[in-house]
Amino acid sequence: GFSWKNAATAPRIPPTRLALHHFDENYSLQLKDLWPSIRASLLCEQKYGALLNNFSAVHHVTQELELLNAADFRGAATSPPLRPSVTPAASVRPHPHFQLLISFPLARLPDALGLLDYYLMDAASLLPVLALNVQPDDFVLDLCAAPGGKTLALLQTGICGHLAANDISISRTKRLYQILHSYVPKVIRETVSVTSYDGRDWGQLQGSTFHKVLVDVPCTTDRHSVMEEENNIFHRRRTKERQMLPMLQLQLLMAGILATKPGGEVVYSTCSLSPLQNEYVIERAVEIAETEFNISIHVEDLSHFRTLFQDTFSFFLDCRLGELVLPHLTANFGPMYFCKLRRM
Ligand code: SAM
Repeated sequence: GFSWKNAATAPRIPPTRLALHHFDENYSLQLKDLWPSIRASLLCEQKYGALLNNFSAVHHVTQELELLNAADFRGAATSPPLRPSVTPAASVRPHPHFQLLISFPLARLPDALGLLDYYLMDAASLLPVLALNVQPDDFVLDLCAAPGGKTLALLQTGICGHLAANDISISRTKRLYQILHSYVPKVIRETVSVTSYDGRDWGQLQGSTFHKVLVDVPCTTDRHSVMEEENNIFHRRRTKERQMLPMLQLQLLMAGILATKPGGEVVYSTCSLSPLQNEYVIERAVEIAETEFNISIHVEDLSHFRTLFQDTFSFFLDCRLGELVLPHLTANFGPMYFCKLRRM
């Protein structure tokens, strides 16, 4: 109902509009001619990938998904780019241990063992996980893990020696537990330790212990920010929090670097197009590691990802460090920035 209190505190401009305005000002400078079509893609329905669950009886699911998609496709006959996604040719198999089908939101059906067959996610979210290149018996840390899409993908490799999944948010950590329960058998689940620490403190807690660290930081979540009013980081009351994001991201990345063994690797990722949250955070972290911790960092070349996935994703070609997947009307994934650092 109406109340004077609501009238006084109601935002005059919805956060999605504020977000779009902010992006128009900033991204048109950075992305130039590319911005109008990326903008349009952000405002269109995103495309999903179905991460097939290797732990469930998935042999029939591929076919089932295609049938369901075919039905979906008939229901959405107005969207021509959907067509290729129903054919097996559009499925991506980037790693022998992963199977990813490009798909659409569907109900998930538990299999006979009680495990769900597939997890829907932005297919570009797999790229940071693949970049981490987990090897048998690696100790892996997922510093900002909830709700757990990337944690699940990490576990799908079946080769993590030990996985620590952390997230500061208790409520989001609960969702992570739910996902582990729905997709991962008990024996594997028991090798995962779930915690709810402030990731910025991790370096002091357990320094130099992990072979691989994923730092998938909170960011302006560009696609969400232009589409959803709820939980929007561009809400006026969250201005301060939004402005502090690059600092938080830097602190989390530093903690990730300190948690890594010498010779180990860190993958930093965001779902934002902003260089302030992407390359600048990398540059500052490399500098601080050197000057304050006497740790030298090598920024790894990931340009082979562009070749490997050129048919599936649209990459930004002018990234100075790391790789950036740009939303595209015919490949509406991302944005997803990822950069790999090696601690020397
Ligand atoms: N990796 C997750 C996935 O793939 O499902 C998504 C992670 S989301 C982009 C960023 C997460 O960082 C949020 O769940 C948020 O609760 C968490 N976070 C924010 N500040 C944090 C902090 N100081 N320490 C640890 N986690 C933090």
